[in-house]
Amino acid sequence: YGTLYVVATPIGNLEDISGRAIQTLKSVGRVLAEDTRRTQQLFSHFGIRNQLVSLHDHNERQRVENIEQWLSDGEDLALVSDAGTPLISDPGYHVVSTLREKGFNIVPIPGASALIAALSVAGLPTDRFCFEGFLPAKPSGRRKKIASLKSEARTWVFYESSHRIQQCIDDLVSELGDERKVVIARELTKRFETVISGPLVEIVSILANDSNQLRGEFVVMVEGRAQEESTQQVSGEQLLSLLVPHLP
Ligand code: SAM
Repeated sequence: YGTLYVVATPIGNLEDISGRAIQTLKSVGRVLAEDTRRTQQLFSHFGIRNQLVSLHDHNERQRVENIEQWLSDGEDLALVSDAGTPLISDPGYHVVSTLREKGFNIVPIPGASALIAALSVAGLPTDRFCFEGFLPAKPSGRRKKIASLKSEARTWVFYESSHRIQQCIDDLVSELGDERKVVIARELTKRFETVISGPLVEIVSILANDSNQLRGEFVVMVEGRAQEESTQQVSGEQLLSLLVPHLP
């Protein structure tokens, strides 16, 4: 049986690809790609010549049969998305879950992911966090989602595109107020990379004064809500010391 390699590709700066990723993309029998033209550009840059097969959200279910066949014939395969780590808000889930269940060999070739790159420079707690992918596109759904995350104690993170970033910030303000701390990582590893951070009221004024800040690709990170006193854990000892003076 062959192996399926799940290969991370750059999120902007092409130098972020690993030597192991290039080696794997050269040596496998064929490469499953979200957009074969996009991946062809990456291949041209690195002098990789290999057969590309499309694998996107709309053909993933039918493609899995071909993939099983190729692997059963002993062929190694690689899976890539347009940018970053496959399956992270990108195609591949159906293929990987099906093959994993059937016991096929699946190996990660790790590399860039906008989520992790953004968290690594945000200055928000990263010991625990939750990733929300893309928030709902419709305003009502998006606001509901934000409202449901209002009391989340962990840092929460989501992806956003230039089409909706302004609306999304407006929704964050209306659901969370002015003071919640937010960090926005834009165009990571690219020419116009910026990271802005501060309470929402400051973010709003930065965006209002510089419309360039609304261009490109974004990772939005929101500080979790501080635990309120009423929900804090009280130890048995503390409880006893509070009660003792009132006991008969
Ligand atoms: N699989 C990718 C990963 O591992 O990061 C994510 C793919 S998802 C379809 C694309 C979204 O990721 C963009 O809309 C943006 O929110 C985020 N993203 C990708 N590249 C980015 C970058 N260079 N800077 C900031 N955000 C980025």
